[in-house]
Amino acid sequence: MAERMLQFTKVSRAMPQKRSAKERAADFREIYGEFSPDAAQAQASRCSQCGVPFCQQGCPLQNNIPDWLKLAAEGRLEEAWRVSSATNNMPEICGRICPQDRLCEGICTIEQSGHGTVTIGSVEKYITDTAWAEGWIQPIKPPRERSQSAGIIGAGPGGLAAAEQLRRKGYQVTVYDAYDRGGGLLIYGIPGFKLEKDVVERRIRHLEASGVTFRFNTRVGSDVSLGDLRSAHDTVLIATGVYAAKDLKCPGSGSEGVLPALDYLTASNKVSLGDKVEAYESGALNAEGKRVVVIGGGDTAMDCVRTAIRQGAKSVTCLYRRDRANMPGSQREVQNAEEEGVVFEWLANPEAIIDTKGGKVKAVRASRMKLGEPDASGRQSPVKTGETFDVKADMVIKALGFDPEDLPALFNEPSLTVNRWGAVRVDYATMETSLPGVYAAGDIVRGASLVVWAIKDGRDAAEAMHKAMRAAEQAAKVAAE
Ligand SMILES: Cc1cc2nc3c(=O)[nH]c(=O)nc-3n(C[C@H](O)[C@H](O)[C@H](O)COP(=O)(O)OP(=O)(O)OC[C@H]3O[C@@H](n4cnc5c(N)ncnc54)[C@H](O)[C@@H]3O)c2cc1C
Ligand code: SF4
Repeated sequence: MAERMLQFTKVSRAMPQKRSAKERAADFREIYGEFSPDAAQAQASRCSQCGVPFCQQGCPLQNNIPDWLKLAAEGRLEEAWRVSSATNNMPEICGRICPQDRLCEGICTIEQSGHGTVTIGSVEKYITDTAWAEGWIQPIKPPRERSQSAGIIGAGPGGLAAAEQLRRKGYQVTVYDAYDRGGGLLIYGIPGFKLEKDVVERRIRHLEASGVTFRFNTRVGSDVSLGDLRSAHDTVLIATGVYAAKDLKCPGSGSEGVLPALDYLTASNKVSLGDKVEAYESGALNAEGKRVVVIGGGDTAMDCVRTAIRQGAKSVTCLYRRDRANMPGSQREVQNAEEEGVVFEWLANPEAIIDTKGGKVKAVRASRMKLGEPDASGRQSPVKTGETFDVKADMVIKALGFDPEDLPALFNEPSLTVNRWGAVRVDYATMETSLPGVYAAGDIVRGASLVVWAIKDGRDAAEAMHKAMRAAEQAAKVAAE
Protein backbone atom coordinates (compact mmCIF):
# COMPACT_ATOMS: atom_id res chain seq x y z
CA MET A 1 0.00 0.00 0.00
CA ALA A 2 3.06 2.25 0.24
CA GLU A 3 2.39 3.55 -3.29
CA ARG A 4 -0.86 5.04 -1.99
CA MET A 5 1.12 7.28 0.34
CA LEU A 6 3.93 9.85 -0.13
CA GLN A 7 1.97 11.50 -2.94
CA PHE A 8 3.01 15.00 -1.88
CA THR A 9 5.21 15.52 -4.93
CA LYS A 10 2.30 14.72 -7.27
CA VAL A 11 -0.75 15.96 -5.35
CA SER A 12 -0.84 19.58 -4.23
CA ARG A 13 -2.16 20.62 -0.85
CA ALA A 14 -5.84 21.58 -1.06
CA MET A 15 -8.37 22.59 1.56
CA PRO A 16 -12.07 21.80 1.12
CA GLN A 17 -13.81 24.45 -0.95
CA LYS A 18 -14.16 27.81 0.82
CA ARG A 19 -17.34 29.79 0.14
CA SER A 20 -16.86 33.24 -1.41
CA ALA A 21 -16.48 36.12 1.04
CA LYS A 22 -19.69 37.70 -0.27
CA GLU A 23 -21.73 34.56 0.18
CA ARG A 24 -20.39 33.63 3.63
CA ALA A 25 -20.71 37.16 5.04
CA ALA A 26 -24.47 36.83 4.61
CA ASP A 27 -24.93 33.93 7.06
CA PHE A 28 -23.41 32.16 10.09
CA ARG A 29 -22.77 28.82 8.37
CA GLU A 30 -19.28 27.31 8.28
CA ILE A 31 -17.13 28.76 5.54
CA TYR A 32 -15.49 25.50 4.40
CA GLY A 33 -17.35 22.69 2.66
CA GLU A 34 -16.59 18.99 3.04
CA PHE A 35 -14.02 17.04 1.01
CA SER A 36 -15.44 14.70 -1.64
CA PRO A 37 -14.38 11.09 -0.91
CA ASP A 38 -11.79 11.26 -3.72
CA ALA A 39 -10.36 14.57 -2.49
CA ALA A 40 -10.11 13.28 1.11
CA GLN A 41 -8.32 10.14 -0.09
CA ALA A 42 -5.95 12.17 -2.29
CA GLN A 43 -5.14 14.67 0.47
CA ALA A 44 -4.55 11.91 3.04
CA SER A 45 -2.25 10.13 0.56
CA ARG A 46 0.15 13.10 0.65
CA CYS A 47 1.38 12.00 4.12
CA SER A 48 5.02 10.89 4.05
CA GLN A 49 4.52 8.33 6.87
CA CYS A 50 7.59 9.61 8.76
CA GLY A 51 9.36 7.20 11.08
CA VAL A 52 9.16 9.88 13.76
CA PRO A 53 5.77 11.58 13.22
CA PHE A 54 6.32 15.19 14.25
CA CYS A 55 2.64 15.98 13.63
CA GLN A 56 1.76 13.60 16.46
CA GLN A 57 4.14 15.47 18.77
CA GLY A 58 2.50 18.74 17.74
CA CYS A 59 -0.96 17.47 18.69
CA PRO A 60 -1.73 17.87 22.40
CA LEU A 61 -3.70 14.60 22.27
CA GLN A 62 -0.82 12.79 20.57
CA ASN A 63 -3.29 11.66 17.93
CA ASN A 64 -2.03 8.77 15.82
CA ILE A 65 -2.22 10.95 12.70
CA PRO A 66 -0.10 8.95 10.20
CA ASP A 67 -2.16 5.79 10.87
CA TRP A 68 -5.53 7.40 10.30
CA LEU A 69 -4.24 9.27 7.25
CA LYS A 70 -3.04 5.98 5.76
CA LEU A 71 -6.38 4.27 6.47
CA ALA A 72 -8.26 7.25 4.99
CA ALA A 73 -6.03 7.17 1.90
CA GLU A 74 -6.94 3.49 1.49
CA GLY A 75 -10.65 4.29 1.82
CA ARG A 76 -10.86 2.35 5.12
CA LEU A 77 -12.81 5.11 6.82
CA GLU A 78 -14.43 3.16 9.63
CA GLU A 79 -11.04 1.93 10.77
CA ALA A 80 -9.64 5.45 10.38
CA TRP A 81 -12.44 6.76 12.60
CA ARG A 82 -11.77 4.08 15.24
CA VAL A 83 -8.07 5.05 15.40
CA SER A 84 -8.87 8.78 15.43
CA SER A 85 -11.58 8.54 18.11
CA ALA A 86 -9.40 6.38 20.37
CA THR A 87 -7.46 9.47 21.46
CA ASN A 88 -9.97 12.29 20.87
CA ASN A 89 -13.55 12.67 22.12
CA MET A 90 -14.53 15.17 19.45
CA PRO A 91 -12.27 14.87 16.38
CA GLU A 92 -14.81 16.60 14.10
CA ILE A 93 -14.70 19.65 16.39
CA CYS A 94 -10.90 19.76 16.65
CA GLY A 95 -10.66 19.26 12.88
CA ARG A 96 -12.75 22.41 12.48
CA ILE A 97 -11.28 24.75 15.10
CA CYS A 98 -7.82 23.70 16.24
CA PRO A 99 -5.24 26.27 15.10
CA GLN A 100 -3.54 23.53 13.10
CA ASP A 101 -0.90 25.93 11.77
CA ARG A 102 0.43 26.19 15.34
CA LEU A 103 -0.06 22.50 16.23
CA CYS A 104 -0.03 19.33 14.10
CA GLU A 105 0.25 20.94 10.66
CA GLY A 106 2.82 23.50 11.79
CA ILE A 107 5.50 20.81 12.12
CA CYS A 108 4.41 18.45 9.36
CA THR A 109 7.58 17.22 7.64
CA ILE A 110 6.42 17.90 4.10
CA GLU A 111 5.52 21.46 5.13
CA GLN A 112 9.14 21.85 6.29
CA SER A 113 10.35 20.58 2.90
CA GLY A 114 8.26 23.22 1.11
CA HIS A 115 5.48 21.00 -0.27
CA GLY A 116 2.68 22.37 1.89
CA THR A 117 1.40 20.56 4.95
CA VAL A 118 -0.98 17.61 4.85
CA THR A 119 -4.45 19.03 5.58
CA ILE A 120 -4.64 17.02 8.80
CA GLY A 121 -7.53 18.93 10.40
CA SER A 122 -9.76 18.74 7.34
CA VAL A 123 -9.18 15.01 6.91
CA GLU A 124 -9.86 14.48 10.63
CA LYS A 125 -13.16 16.37 10.30
CA TYR A 126 -14.07 14.39 7.17
CA ILE A 127 -13.45 11.03 8.86
CA THR A 128 -15.69 11.77 11.86
CA ASP A 129 -18.39 13.59 9.88
CA THR A 130 -18.53 10.39 7.78
CA ALA A 131 -18.73 8.29 10.96
CA TRP A 132 -21.76 10.31 12.11
CA ALA A 133 -23.39 10.11 8.67
CA GLU A 134 -22.83 6.34 8.44
CA GLY A 135 -24.19 5.69 11.94
CA TRP A 136 -20.91 4.29 13.28
CA ILE A 137 -21.17 6.53 16.36
CA GLN A 138 -23.66 4.88 18.67
CA PRO A 139 -24.55 5.55 22.32
CA ILE A 140 -21.98 4.19 24.75
CA LYS A 141 -22.84 0.85 26.36
CA PRO A 142 -20.34 0.33 29.18
CA PRO A 143 -19.25 -3.27 29.76
CA ARG A 144 -20.65 -3.01 33.30
CA GLU A 145 -22.48 -0.39 35.33
CA ARG A 146 -20.67 0.86 38.43
CA SER A 147 -22.48 2.37 41.37
CA GLN A 148 -19.84 5.08 41.96
CA SER A 149 -20.56 8.51 40.57
CA ALA A 150 -18.73 11.59 39.32
CA GLY A 151 -19.98 15.18 39.46
CA ILE A 152 -18.57 17.39 36.73
CA ILE A 153 -18.83 21.17 36.95
CA GLY A 154 -18.87 22.65 33.46
CA ALA A 155 -20.17 21.25 30.17
CA GLY A 156 -17.37 22.72 28.04
CA PRO A 157 -14.94 20.50 26.12
CA GLY A 158 -12.94 19.66 29.28
CA GLY A 159 -16.01 18.52 31.22
CA LEU A 160 -17.55 16.72 28.25
CA ALA A 161 -14.37 14.76 27.47
CA ALA A 162 -14.11 13.64 31.11
CA ALA A 163 -17.83 12.75 31.20
CA GLU A 164 -17.46 10.52 28.14
CA GLN A 165 -14.34 8.78 29.40
CA LEU A 166 -15.92 8.05 32.80
CA ARG A 167 -19.18 6.88 31.28
CA ARG A 168 -17.28 4.47 29.02
CA LYS A 169 -15.99 2.85 32.19
CA GLY A 170 -19.53 2.53 33.59
CA TYR A 171 -19.57 5.34 36.18
CA GLN A 172 -22.72 7.35 36.85
CA VAL A 173 -21.95 10.85 35.61
CA THR A 174 -23.78 14.12 36.26
CA VAL A 175 -22.65 17.33 34.56
CA TYR A 176 -23.68 20.63 36.19
CA ASP A 177 -23.63 23.81 34.10
CA ALA A 178 -24.68 27.38 34.76
CA TYR A 179 -25.80 27.79 31.13
CA ASP A 180 -29.03 26.45 29.68
CA ARG A 181 -27.16 24.32 27.10
CA GLY A 182 -24.06 22.16 26.97
CA GLY A 183 -20.85 22.93 25.11
CA GLY A 184 -19.40 25.88 27.09
CA LEU A 185 -17.52 28.16 24.72
CA LEU A 186 -18.15 25.68 21.88
CA ILE A 187 -21.79 26.72 21.95
CA TYR A 188 -21.82 30.31 23.27
CA GLY A 189 -18.31 31.62 22.46
CA ILE A 190 -17.17 30.25 19.10
CA PRO A 191 -19.43 31.45 16.25
CA GLY A 192 -21.21 29.19 13.79
CA PHE A 193 -19.02 30.23 10.86
CA LYS A 194 -16.17 28.32 12.56
CA LEU A 195 -18.26 25.62 14.24
CA GLU A 196 -21.92 25.10 13.43
CA LYS A 197 -24.07 24.67 16.51
CA ASP A 198 -25.66 21.35 15.53
CA VAL A 199 -22.17 19.80 15.49
CA VAL A 200 -21.89 20.65 19.21
CA GLU A 201 -25.48 19.74 20.05
CA ARG A 202 -25.01 16.33 18.41
CA ARG A 203 -22.23 15.59 20.91
CA ILE A 204 -24.46 16.58 23.87
CA ARG A 205 -27.30 14.38 22.59
CA HIS A 206 -24.82 11.52 22.18
CA LEU A 207 -23.73 11.81 25.81
CA GLU A 208 -27.34 12.04 27.01
CA ALA A 209 -28.19 8.91 25.01
CA SER A 210 -25.14 7.27 26.61
CA GLY A 211 -26.54 7.83 30.10
CA VAL A 212 -24.79 11.06 31.15
CA THR A 213 -27.14 13.31 33.16
CA PHE A 214 -27.00 17.07 32.52
CA ARG A 215 -28.20 19.58 35.10
CA PHE A 216 -28.36 22.88 33.21
CA ASN A 217 -29.14 26.29 34.76
CA THR A 218 -27.26 25.12 37.85
CA ARG A 219 -24.48 27.41 39.02
CA VAL A 220 -22.15 25.77 41.51
CA GLY A 221 -21.47 28.30 44.24
CA SER A 222 -25.01 29.70 44.29
CA ASP A 223 -27.61 27.07 43.23
CA VAL A 224 -25.63 24.23 44.75
CA SER A 225 -22.36 24.22 46.70
CA LEU A 226 -19.13 22.42 45.95
CA GLY A 227 -19.58 20.77 49.36
CA ASP A 228 -22.98 19.40 48.24
CA LEU A 229 -21.38 17.88 45.16
CA ARG A 230 -18.54 16.35 47.15
CA SER A 231 -21.13 14.69 49.42
CA ALA A 232 -23.30 13.53 46.51
CA HIS A 233 -20.49 12.07 44.37
CA ASP A 234 -17.42 9.91 44.85
CA THR A 235 -15.35 12.36 42.86
CA VAL A 236 -15.75 15.87 41.42
CA LEU A 237 -14.18 17.64 38.43
CA ILE A 238 -13.95 21.43 38.14
CA ALA A 239 -14.00 22.41 34.43
CA THR A 240 -15.50 25.87 34.68
CA GLY A 241 -13.36 27.73 32.14
CA VAL A 242 -12.27 31.36 32.55
CA TYR A 243 -14.83 34.14 32.32
CA ALA A 244 -13.45 37.28 34.05
CA ALA A 245 -12.99 39.57 31.02
CA LYS A 246 -9.88 41.79 31.05
CA ASP A 247 -11.09 45.38 30.98
CA LEU A 248 -10.13 48.39 28.93
CA LYS A 249 -8.29 50.85 31.14
CA CYS A 250 -8.72 54.20 29.46
CA PRO A 251 -10.95 57.25 29.88
CA GLY A 252 -14.47 56.73 28.57
CA SER A 253 -14.37 52.94 28.76
CA GLY A 254 -17.73 52.98 30.56
CA SER A 255 -19.50 54.83 27.73
CA GLU A 256 -22.71 53.46 26.30
CA GLY A 257 -21.94 51.18 23.38
CA VAL A 258 -18.68 49.79 24.82
CA LEU A 259 -19.26 46.04 25.24
CA PRO A 260 -17.48 42.96 26.57
CA ALA A 261 -16.76 40.51 23.72
CA LEU A 262 -18.40 37.49 25.32
CA ASP A 263 -21.72 39.30 25.93
CA TYR A 264 -21.72 40.22 22.27
CA LEU A 265 -20.79 36.74 20.98
CA THR A 266 -23.14 34.91 23.36
CA ALA A 267 -26.09 37.04 22.22
CA SER A 268 -25.24 36.38 18.58
CA ASN A 269 -24.89 32.62 19.17
CA LYS A 270 -28.19 32.52 21.06
CA VAL A 271 -29.91 34.27 18.15
CA SER A 272 -28.37 31.69 15.77
CA LEU A 273 -29.80 28.96 18.02
CA GLY A 274 -33.27 30.51 17.66
CA ASP A 275 -33.46 32.18 21.09
CA LYS A 276 -35.08 35.55 21.61
CA VAL A 277 -32.46 37.96 22.98
CA GLU A 278 -33.82 41.29 24.10
CA ALA A 279 -30.49 43.12 24.08
CA TYR A 280 -30.01 41.98 20.49
CA GLU A 281 -33.47 43.09 19.44
CA SER A 282 -33.04 46.46 21.15
CA GLY A 283 -29.83 46.94 19.16
CA ALA A 284 -27.56 47.05 22.21
CA LEU A 285 -25.81 43.80 21.16
CA ASN A 286 -26.47 44.04 17.42
CA ALA A 287 -23.96 45.63 15.05
CA GLU A 288 -26.38 46.16 12.17
CA GLY A 289 -25.79 49.52 10.47
CA LYS A 290 -23.08 50.51 12.99
CA ARG A 291 -19.44 51.50 12.74
CA VAL A 292 -17.81 48.85 14.90
CA VAL A 293 -14.36 48.95 16.47
CA VAL A 294 -13.01 45.75 18.05
CA ILE A 295 -10.04 46.06 20.39
CA GLY A 296 -7.72 43.03 20.61
CA GLY A 297 -5.76 40.64 18.39
CA GLY A 298 -6.71 37.17 19.61
CA ASP A 299 -9.22 34.59 18.41
CA THR A 300 -12.02 36.28 20.35
CA ALA A 301 -11.37 39.57 18.52
CA MET A 302 -11.37 37.74 15.17
CA ASP A 303 -14.71 36.12 16.04
CA CYS A 304 -16.17 39.52 16.98
CA VAL A 305 -15.10 41.31 13.80
CA ARG A 306 -16.47 38.53 11.60
CA THR A 307 -19.73 38.38 13.60
CA ALA A 308 -20.18 42.15 13.14
CA ILE A 309 -19.73 41.76 9.36
CA ARG A 310 -22.46 39.11 9.32
CA GLN A 311 -24.80 41.29 11.37
CA GLY A 312 -24.54 43.97 8.68
CA ALA A 313 -22.20 46.49 10.32
CA LYS A 314 -21.52 49.63 8.27
CA SER A 315 -17.78 49.27 8.89
CA VAL A 316 -15.60 47.02 11.08
CA THR A 317 -12.13 48.03 12.28
CA CYS A 318 -9.83 45.97 14.48
CA LEU A 319 -7.25 47.79 16.62
CA TYR A 320 -4.28 45.78 17.83
CA ARG A 321 -1.22 47.20 19.59
CA ARG A 322 1.39 44.93 17.97
CA ASP A 323 1.85 44.10 14.28
CA ARG A 324 0.32 41.32 12.23
CA ALA A 325 3.25 38.93 12.73
CA ASN A 326 3.01 39.30 16.51
CA MET A 327 -0.72 38.92 17.02
CA PRO A 328 -1.91 35.98 19.13
CA GLY A 329 -4.82 35.05 16.84
CA SER A 330 -4.58 32.65 13.93
CA GLN A 331 -3.26 34.12 10.65
CA ARG A 332 -5.85 32.05 8.79
CA GLU A 333 -8.60 33.90 10.66
CA VAL A 334 -7.08 37.32 9.88
CA GLN A 335 -7.03 36.42 6.21
CA ASN A 336 -10.68 35.30 6.39
CA ALA A 337 -11.62 38.55 8.16
CA GLU A 338 -9.79 40.68 5.59
CA GLU A 339 -11.51 38.86 2.75
CA GLU A 340 -14.84 39.63 4.43
CA GLY A 341 -14.09 43.36 4.61
CA VAL A 342 -12.57 43.94 8.06
CA VAL A 343 -9.98 46.75 8.25
CA PHE A 344 -7.01 46.09 10.55
CA GLU A 345 -5.19 48.94 12.27
CA TRP A 346 -1.98 47.25 13.41
CA LEU A 347 0.27 48.97 15.97
CA ALA A 348 -2.66 50.93 17.37
CA ASN A 349 -3.39 51.18 21.09
CA PRO A 350 -6.63 52.71 22.44
CA GLU A 351 -5.98 55.85 24.51
CA ALA A 352 -9.55 57.06 25.13
CA ILE A 353 -13.14 56.41 24.18
CA ILE A 354 -14.69 59.65 23.03
CA ASP A 355 -18.41 59.96 23.70
CA THR A 356 -21.29 62.30 22.95
CA LYS A 357 -22.79 64.65 25.55
CA GLY A 358 -25.33 61.88 26.24
CA GLY A 359 -22.50 59.45 27.09
CA LYS A 360 -22.72 57.38 23.89
CA VAL A 361 -19.52 56.25 22.21
CA LYS A 362 -18.64 58.18 19.05
CA ALA A 363 -14.95 57.41 18.42
CA VAL A 364 -11.86 55.64 19.70
CA ARG A 365 -8.68 57.67 20.04
CA ALA A 366 -5.65 55.48 19.42
CA SER A 367 -1.89 55.92 19.73
CA ARG A 368 0.27 54.77 16.84
CA MET A 369 2.80 52.28 18.25
CA LYS A 370 6.10 50.78 17.14
CA LEU A 371 7.76 47.61 18.39
CA GLY A 372 10.52 48.24 20.92
CA GLU A 373 12.80 46.03 22.98
CA PRO A 374 11.77 42.42 23.76
CA ASP A 375 10.17 41.92 27.20
CA ALA A 376 10.94 39.06 29.65
CA SER A 377 9.01 36.63 27.44
CA GLY A 378 11.13 37.63 24.42
CA ARG A 379 8.23 39.41 22.69
CA GLN A 380 8.88 42.94 21.44
CA SER A 381 6.92 45.45 23.54
CA PRO A 382 4.82 48.07 21.73
CA VAL A 383 5.86 51.68 22.49
CA LYS A 384 4.13 54.92 21.57
CA THR A 385 5.37 56.91 18.58
CA GLY A 386 3.63 60.12 19.78
CA GLU A 387 1.13 60.10 16.89
CA THR A 388 -2.58 59.68 17.65
CA PHE A 389 -5.63 59.18 15.43
CA ASP A 390 -9.39 58.75 15.85
CA VAL A 391 -11.61 55.99 14.47
CA LYS A 392 -15.33 56.79 14.40
CA ALA A 393 -17.43 54.21 16.23
CA ASP A 394 -21.02 53.51 17.30
CA MET A 395 -20.05 50.25 19.00
CA VAL A 396 -16.76 49.27 20.63
CA ILE A 397 -16.09 45.64 21.56
CA LYS A 398 -13.46 44.83 24.18
CA ALA A 399 -11.73 41.54 23.30
CA LEU A 400 -8.71 41.73 25.58
CA GLY A 401 -8.71 38.21 27.00
CA PHE A 402 -10.00 36.45 30.09
CA ASP A 403 -8.79 35.67 33.60
CA PRO A 404 -10.06 33.00 35.99
CA GLU A 405 -12.81 34.05 38.38
CA ASP A 406 -12.09 33.89 42.11
CA LEU A 407 -13.12 30.25 42.55
CA PRO A 408 -12.14 29.81 46.22
CA ALA A 409 -14.50 32.71 47.02
CA LEU A 410 -17.23 31.65 44.56
CA PHE A 411 -17.18 28.09 45.86
CA ASN A 412 -16.65 29.21 49.46
CA GLU A 413 -13.67 26.84 49.63
CA PRO A 414 -10.64 28.83 50.84
CA SER A 415 -8.56 25.66 50.84
CA LEU A 416 -8.89 25.30 47.06
CA THR A 417 -5.41 26.45 46.03
CA VAL A 418 -4.95 28.74 43.03
CA ASN A 419 -1.84 30.22 41.43
CA ARG A 420 -1.05 33.94 41.29
CA TRP A 421 -3.25 34.40 38.23
CA GLY A 422 -6.18 32.67 39.95
CA ALA A 423 -5.96 29.40 37.96
CA VAL A 424 -6.66 26.26 39.99
CA ARG A 425 -3.46 24.47 40.99
CA VAL A 426 -3.31 20.76 40.20
CA ASP A 427 -0.81 17.98 40.47
CA TYR A 428 -0.25 17.53 36.71
CA ALA A 429 0.36 13.79 37.18
CA THR A 430 -3.25 13.34 38.33
CA MET A 431 -5.03 16.70 37.75
CA GLU A 432 -6.05 16.54 41.42
CA THR A 433 -6.48 19.87 43.21
CA SER A 434 -5.59 20.70 46.80
CA LEU A 435 -9.01 19.25 47.80
CA PRO A 436 -8.85 15.44 47.98
CA GLY A 437 -11.08 13.78 45.38
CA VAL A 438 -11.58 17.07 43.51
CA TYR A 439 -9.88 17.36 40.11
CA ALA A 440 -9.68 20.21 37.60
CA ALA A 441 -9.28 20.48 33.82
CA GLY A 442 -9.20 22.94 30.93
CA ASP A 443 -8.96 26.73 30.98
CA ILE A 444 -9.52 26.95 34.75
CA VAL A 445 -6.15 25.18 35.13
CA ARG A 446 -4.22 26.60 32.16
CA GLY A 447 -5.77 30.04 31.80
CA ALA A 448 -7.46 30.87 28.47
CA SER A 449 -6.18 28.15 26.13
CA LEU A 450 -7.52 25.83 23.43
CA VAL A 451 -10.28 23.27 23.03
CA VAL A 452 -7.81 20.48 22.30
CA TRP A 453 -5.96 21.15 25.58
CA ALA A 454 -9.22 21.10 27.53
CA ILE A 455 -10.03 17.70 25.99
CA LYS A 456 -6.57 16.41 26.91
CA ASP A 457 -6.97 17.60 30.51
CA GLY A 458 -10.48 16.15 30.76
CA ARG A 459 -9.21 12.77 29.59
CA ASP A 460 -6.22 12.83 31.96
CA ALA A 461 -8.42 13.84 34.90
CA ALA A 462 -10.97 11.10 34.07
CA GLU A 463 -8.22 8.49 34.06
CA ALA A 464 -7.01 9.60 37.49
CA MET A 465 -10.58 9.78 38.85
CA HIS A 466 -11.17 6.24 37.59
CA LYS A 467 -8.00 4.96 39.28
CA ALA A 468 -8.98 6.60 42.58
CA MET A 469 -12.55 5.25 42.47
CA ARG A 470 -11.35 1.76 41.55
CA ALA A 471 -8.88 1.83 44.44
CA ALA A 472 -11.67 2.95 46.81
CA GLU A 473 -13.93 0.18 45.52
CA GLN A 474 -11.24 -2.44 46.08
CA ALA A 475 -10.47 -1.10 49.54
CA ALA A 476 -14.18 -1.29 50.43
CA LYS A 477 -14.31 -4.91 49.19
CA VAL A 478 -11.30 -5.89 51.29
CA ALA A 479 -12.77 -4.15 54.34
CA ALA A 480 -16.05 -6.02 53.86
CA GLU A 481 -14.35 -9.45 53.64
C1 LIG B 1 -14.61 33.70 21.43
C2 LIG B 1 -13.69 32.55 21.63
C3 LIG B 1 -13.22 31.87 20.51
C4 LIG B 1 -12.38 30.78 20.67
N1 LIG B 1 -11.95 30.12 19.55
C5 LIG B 1 -11.20 29.01 19.70
C6 LIG B 1 -10.78 28.26 18.57
O1 LIG B 1 -11.07 28.63 17.42
N2 LIG B 1 -10.07 27.15 18.76
C7 LIG B 1 -9.75 26.69 20.01
O2 LIG B 1 -9.12 25.62 20.14
N3 LIG B 1 -10.10 27.40 21.11
C8 LIG B 1 -10.82 28.53 20.98
N4 LIG B 1 -11.19 29.24 22.09
C9 LIG B 1 -10.78 28.75 23.42
C10 LIG B 1 -11.66 27.56 23.85
O3 LIG B 1 -13.01 27.84 23.60
C11 LIG B 1 -11.44 27.23 25.32
O4 LIG B 1 -10.06 27.01 25.53
C12 LIG B 1 -12.20 25.97 25.74
O5 LIG B 1 -13.57 26.08 25.48
C13 LIG B 1 -11.99 25.69 27.24
O6 LIG B 1 -12.77 24.59 27.61
P1 LIG B 1 -13.23 24.41 29.13
O7 LIG B 1 -14.02 23.14 29.14
O8 LIG B 1 -12.08 24.54 30.03
O9 LIG B 1 -14.17 25.66 29.45
P2 LIG B 1 -15.45 26.31 28.76
O10 LIG B 1 -15.59 25.92 27.34
O11 LIG B 1 -15.36 27.75 29.08
O12 LIG B 1 -16.68 25.68 29.55
C14 LIG B 1 -16.85 25.93 30.92
C15 LIG B 1 -18.29 25.65 31.30
O13 LIG B 1 -18.39 25.77 32.73
C16 LIG B 1 -19.60 26.43 33.04
N5 LIG B 1 -19.45 27.06 34.36
C17 LIG B 1 -18.60 28.05 34.71
N6 LIG B 1 -18.74 28.34 36.02
C18 LIG B 1 -19.68 27.50 36.50
C19 LIG B 1 -20.26 27.30 37.78
N7 LIG B 1 -19.88 28.00 38.85
N8 LIG B 1 -21.22 26.36 37.92
C20 LIG B 1 -21.64 25.61 36.85
N9 LIG B 1 -21.10 25.76 35.61
C21 LIG B 1 -20.14 26.68 35.44
C22 LIG B 1 -19.80 27.43 31.93
O14 LIG B 1 -21.17 27.79 31.83
C23 LIG B 1 -19.29 26.65 30.72
O15 LIG B 1 -20.34 25.94 30.07
C24 LIG B 1 -12.00 30.36 21.97
C25 LIG B 1 -12.45 31.07 23.09
C26 LIG B 1 -13.28 32.16 22.92
C27 LIG B 1 -13.73 32.92 24.12
S1 SF4 C 1 -6.71 17.40 17.53
FE1 SF4 C 1 -6.03 19.38 16.68
S2 SF4 C 1 -3.79 19.32 16.84
FE2 SF4 C 1 -4.53 17.20 17.08
S3 SF4 C 1 -4.48 16.29 14.99
FE3 SF4 C 1 -6.53 17.15 15.31
S4 SF4 C 1 -6.42 19.23 14.44
FE4 SF4 C 1 -4.31 18.56 14.78
